[in-house]
Amino acid sequence: MPIFDFVCSDCGELFEALVRGTQAASCPKCQSTTLEKQLSLPAIKTDASHGLAMQAATRRDKAQGAERMHAQRQYELSHDD
Ligand SMILES: [Zn+2]
Repeated sequence: MPIFDFVCSDCGELFEALVRGTQAASCPKCQSTTLEKQLSLPAIKTDASHGLAMQAATRRDKAQGAERMHAQRQYELSHDD
């Protein structure tokens, strides 16, 4: 059964989920179904759990950073005078 890594677009949570057929996965943290599927890289997966943890942290930081930048841009656009 295929297991995929997902990053939640809403809260940045990284998790693995079993995907069966057309059943949509949802974030275990906020139940959002707005998810970004990560491509599995078997070569990296053989590395160690430390590598995966680092990847997860990096992805989370990235997601949160993008969110902050987006918020900043929205602020600037609405306060353009
Ligand atoms: Zn979430």
